[in-house]
Amino acid sequence: MTGPESVVRTIRGVVGDDPFVGLHIPDITDLEKQRVRECLDSTFVSSVGAFVGEFEQSIAEFTGAAHAVAVSNGTSALQVALELAGVTGGDDVIVPTLSFVATANAVSHAGAQPFFVDSDEETLGLSVEAVSEVLSAARSTPEGLVNAATGRRIGAIVPMHTLGHPMHIAELVTLADSYGVPVVEDAAESLGSRVGPRHTGTFGALGILSFNGNKILTTGGGGMILTDDDELARRARHLTTTAKLPHRWEFEHDEIAYNYRMPNLNAALGVAQLERLPEFLAAKRRLARRYQDAFADLPGIRFLAEPSGTESNYWLCAVRVDGAQPERDAVLEATNDAGLQCRPFWNPLHLQAPYRHLPRAATPVAERLHASVVCIPSSPALAPA
Ligand SMILES: *Cc1c(COP(=O)(O)O)cnc(C)c1O
Repeated sequence: MTGPESVVRTIRGVVGDDPFVGLHIPDITDLEKQRVRECLDSTFVSSVGAFVGEFEQSIAEFTGAAHAVAVSNGTSALQVALELAGVTGGDDVIVPTLSFVATANAVSHAGAQPFFVDSDEETLGLSVEAVSEVLSAARSTPEGLVNAATGRRIGAIVPMHTLGHPMHIAELVTLADSYGVPVVEDAAESLGSRVGPRHTGTFGALGILSFNGNKILTTGGGGMILTDDDELARRARHLTTTAKLPHRWEFEHDEIAYNYRMPNLNAALGVAQLERLPEFLAAKRRLARRYQDAFADLPGIRFLAEPSGTESNYWLCAVRVDGAQPERDAVLEATNDAGLQCRPFWNPLHLQAPYRHLPRAATPVAERLHASVVCIPSSPALAPA
């Protein structure tokens, strides 16, 4: 096993010698300041304003989704997308145990219960084989497919494109379709990631993006619902804007709904960031290439490259350390001591306090990945052209 000191040296060789190198720092220039100032000057800072529509239109064009609906964050986007996919109280929703807690929380907010499934060693995303095992063991009933492990209806499947690397989404959608279960993609981390020509988040019935401060593009906080379905898009807009009926002055609402719309001020930041997305994506690829070359000759550690047939946005670059958690922790210790902000994967969701009592599938791969992956500094500014 390579000593943790050589990992520090290798990262330093790529990112230079700034005393502190963050994991992922937002890149804000005068363009962002200009758009935000325009928004402030207009006084349309809240949920009505031209930047929201412009941001939605540009995201739809960039991803190829027919519709994009801007909301307050990725978690609310996922909750509403699940409700629109037909998930109701008492359902199970299949999610990867290796994900950020928002994936499971959104399922809970929709009144359902996450059913945790294993990950794929190559893509780091939900394992299609593991999902297939759950679906083939399920019972078909008039109400839908019933999970053999819980007796609850399987309302949806939520794959996630981990660190920006696309999971086997086309295979998963084909499998899910054959059982009549909708797929809602958590593409929070994968803006700019594609499978062939097709953007992640556009394979399922609905997909969601996040624009949190640590994502590849930020609006401060924000999210987006993607869909090709006109009616689902109309419902998404209605549900996230208090279900208010259009009228010149009357306040008439036709159902209990949410105040989840993205403020114009955040969309102004998003419009500027989206103009710069091609620049961010190019820098991320350069950085990934430099890391990949630098780690190629180091035994005991491997750079995690994009899965074959896909184009990753390389939101977070990561390495896999041979061995078990003590070896991973030695790398985390040495890098963080040296001013290199490195982070492990999230603790698996089936081990988190609100979720550890739930029935679940076996998750050996996710546990191995958690014990061995280290995310390394990934800001676009680290790879100037
Ligand atoms: C960031 C993220 C979300 C959404 O997060 P918000 O902070 O609510 O925008 C959801 N799922 C995953 C996997 C994420 O990384």
